[in-house]
Amino acid sequence: MKNKAKIIFHIDLNAFYASVSEINEPYLKNKVFVVGGSVMASRGVITTASYKARALGIRSAMPISEAMKIYPKVLVVPINHSEYKKYSNLFFEFLKTYTNRVLKASIDEAYLDVTEITNDIHPLELAKQMQQELYEKHQLPSSIGIAPTLYLAKMGSDLKKPMGITVVRKRDVPKKILPLPIKELHGLGIKTYPYLEKEGILTIGDFARKENRETILKYMSYDNYQNFIDSILGNSSNKVDPAKYDIPKSVSNETTFNYNIDSYDLILEEISSLYEVIYHRLIKENLLAKTITIKLRESNFKTITRSKSISDYSNDYDTFKNIMEELLYENYTDAPLRLVGVGYSNIILEKQYEEDYNLFTYQKILKDET
Ligand SMILES: [Mg+2]
Repeated sequence: MKNKAKIIFHIDLNAFYASVSEINEPYLKNKVFVVGGSVMASRGVITTASYKARALGIRSAMPISEAMKIYPKVLVVPINHSEYKKYSNLFFEFLKTYTNRVLKASIDEAYLDVTEITNDIHPLELAKQMQQELYEKHQLPSSIGIAPTLYLAKMGSDLKKPMGITVVRKRDVPKKILPLPIKELHGLGIKTYPYLEKEGILTIGDFARKENRETILKYMSYDNYQNFIDSILGNSSNKVDPAKYDIPKSVSNETTFNYNIDSYDLILEEISSLYEVIYHRLIKENLLAKTITIKLRESNFKTITRSKSISDYSNDYDTFKNIMEELLYENYTDAPLRLVGVGYSNIILEKQYEEDYNLFTYQKILKDET
């Protein structure tokens, strides 16, 4: 039983924002509607189109005005982040009733290592059961890819939507993956694939062909290329690491003085150098924050912490530094201090932010459409 192949599921909620809209407004069921427009109404771009809308050719990233030309009675539903968060949480709680080996890939996508569970139930049966239950309990339609690696599972879940289940074993790659158009190669940038198409590399199979290697290397690094090849052929990671995208609750730094300090300038200098450290950590770990906190401990151990939040996630150096200086100025009372500290909190990964919030980035929308 050593080195037994793993069984990985990729579960993707179908047209997630549209599905949540339907749950909250049942009259939308089977209607031509789109979600979008509320955050940047001026641009009026579609975030998610219902399946009925898609059938008419209405797509994510399309201006709402264009959708209206296609179907004048199209309903426009505003974006509702708190509802998406709520259903996303339900989704992940549901998955964890099956296994703890869950890796959150985005707000509506997860990888599961079900190798152990499938000792007792056939993977296909398990997938059907989960899909059915997810729909009955939470009214969330999903697609599931079943494969020996994360990458192939992801490719698999894209193949049949909505409510599809697709098995991609290594031996299925020639039939199920290689014939797909090159733009379906998961992870390939939306800027890159048109170049490959112009070079005549039209399918994933073309990409994998050795004689195209030199051509492809004009557009990506060798490592990148090799990763794609390994992924396509089923030789990439099969490790579902639930902690992979864990993010710190805060990024902070503090210092205790050798003697008490009551010079405002020295305190400002000290807190500024602490800030440099946390700023660089924020950038290095690709994080964004909403809140900055200062901590001042007086010589009598009285400690005050003061926080201020900005309206949207950021990693901007000056924005937070200015707030920090303001907080210090407003709260420092001339008492001698024995400790100062500063920290970011309300932190998310930059990647997550793009996927969850920056709904109007053209590239992301096209890639995330499900
Ligand atoms: Mg999805």
